[in-house]
Amino acid sequence: MTVTDLALMPYEEALAAYDPVMGLEVHVELGTRTKMFCGCSTALDAEANSQTCPTCLGLPGALPVVNAKGVESAIRIGLALNCKIAEWCRFARKNYFYPDMPKNFQTSQYDEPIAYDGYLDVQLEDGEVFRVGIERAHMEEDTGKSTHVGGATGRIHGASHSLLDYNRAGIPLIEIVTKPIVGAGERAPEVARAYVAELREVIRALGVSEARMERGQLRCDVNLSLRPKGSETFGTRSETKNVNSLRSVERATRYEIQRHAAVLSSGGTVVQETRHFHEEDGSTTSGRVKEEAEDYRYFPEPDLVPVAPSREWVEELRASLPELPLVRRNRLRQEWGISQHEMQSVLNAGALDLIVATIDAGAKAAAARKWWMGELARRANEQGVELAELPITPGQVARVAALVEEGSLNDKLARQVIEGVLAGEGDPDTVVEKRGLKVVSDEGALGAAVDEAIAANPDIAEKVRGGKIAAAGALVGAVMRATRGQADAARARELILEKLGVQG
Ligand code: ADP
Ligand code: MG
Ligand code: ZN
Repeated sequence: MTVTDLALMPYEEALAAYDPVMGLEVHVELGTRTKMFCGCSTALDAEANSQTCPTCLGLPGALPVVNAKGVESAIRIGLALNCKIAEWCRFARKNYFYPDMPKNFQTSQYDEPIAYDGYLDVQLEDGEVFRVGIERAHMEEDTGKSTHVGGATGRIHGASHSLLDYNRAGIPLIEIVTKPIVGAGERAPEVARAYVAELREVIRALGVSEARMERGQLRCDVNLSLRPKGSETFGTRSETKNVNSLRSVERATRYEIQRHAAVLSSGGTVVQETRHFHEEDGSTTSGRVKEEAEDYRYFPEPDLVPVAPSREWVEELRASLPELPLVRRNRLRQEWGISQHEMQSVLNAGALDLIVATIDAGAKAAAARKWWMGELARRANEQGVELAELPITPGQVARVAALVEEGSLNDKLARQVIEGVLAGEGDPDTVVEKRGLKVVSDEGALGAAVDEAIAANPDIAEKVRGGKIAAAGALVGAVMRATRGQADAARARELILEKLGVQG
């Protein structure tokens, strides 16, 4: 066993002695209809190798053509990340052998990325904004997919054979690389997570990819090194590959901080290597010793023309960028009059777009937020699903809110209507109809219920008459029970006080 495998230093102790430096490399699979250099479909879940052609299989004589939409998406991502856009840039061949890459090289960009030198502001849980520098965003293509069969682990070691699916080979990727992130200190894991989360929001807002991490549409490599506090020079980094959830980004960063600290403090040296992250226990293990750039024998791609986006086009794309997520969140937070903390809960619940859609469908902001963050969040939680997966639409929630607003439903009845909609009984109005859920506010029925409640509780009625108005609550309760919760409680209270001859 090497010292790297021995121990982790307690987190606080590690941070007391060292400053972490991070670098995050994020690969985003674009949602273009066709691949980056050929016309093959990018649709997911197709039969293996059904979406291939001589170009993406690297057959002799096949020539690539650049996907214009891919270039446009790259520029839009670059602009959203406050980058400069190259006036002229080329693709490069990155040469290496791996069976999932039939051309024996990856068409990528090397020293001439399409976008460079930008930044992304990310907001931490407490509202503080941390600026992450962007070194570059460049275009490249994805590899195919290998499946190792016959072993216990699904890894190549111990497998009897491997299957290859080239459907993914050639799907456009944008790789976004940060500048070294310094100054995050003990919040490095939180910054890493917040960065990837914010980047994912930006990608989605641009509409260039669904950026679903669980589907591999957004993948993150976490580079990390430590330097003794006060030191200017960077330490040796490790690169944890393909970290595929936000939580894992945070855990991998934390683990590497503790591991590097243990190595360094025991007098060892950190090896520059790639590492694998393990979901089960949040650990990382050694991968391969890191290649140097020269190992790849990069050279300009001779089969593709340079990309030279006109300044007019770039400005057009800049002008048509959507409102960016951080700006939008801050705007909504102000419009809704909620705190940073409340907004954070909305985000964590995945409720932002649902609430916005509910407001667009006519609900007031407070009501939309209340239903999604209250009753619906509770039910989603109970069923172990995301809010968006609940079988109720923002339009239906808005209708429930409208029925409450106009006084046809009280909250208790509204919850029953929601239950009915979720159970597939139909729209809110249909559920109200079928279940006979309406607030009893017609004066006749309500008046009768009030009279009965007074008659059945003479002692309490006497107290109220004598000025103990708080005691009226018990009578309201009796009315609510008698009407199976369908009475308008406020109106019932008014009537009770009226009939007992006291002022509310
Ligand atoms: P490679 O292709 O070798 O992974 P890249 O330049 O694509 O190199 O990415 C390296 C990432 O690591 C970048 O985000 C960079 O800012 C970051 N980085 C570079 N040096 C260090 C270091 N000593 N410690 C932590 N991160 C680093
Ligand atoms: Mg890398
Ligand atoms: Zn193809």
